[in-house]
Amino acid sequence: MGTVKFRTLFDFTRHQMNVGCVCGSCAHQGVVHCDRLARWCFLKRLHGTVDALPGFLRCSHCGGRPMRIRPTPLPPTFPDWGADEAAWKRMQRRLRG
Ligand SMILES: [Zn+2]
Repeated sequence: MGTVKFRTLFDFTRHQMNVGCVCGSCAHQGVVHCDRLARWCFLKRLHGTVDALPGFLRCSHCGGRPMRIRPTPLPPTFPDWGADEAAWKRMQRRLRG
């Protein structure tokens, strides 16, 4: 890792690192698939930056906000999230209105 700075989801996908979050309320740790989170942000037109992520990510345990975002090689906490291509298509259609 060394001097590599992770500022946006692009940095995560480029290095194929998943997004590790630590909850600010209960310290629960979660891992989100980097490519799928990047796609999700793109669809929702959210800024996929490390600074912005705590604004729309929620702890799966207590619903709190993550206080720390860092790259991790660990597998996603919910492997099924974003794995269903049909669900993406549905979301895309819904967002287009
Ligand atoms: Zn929590």
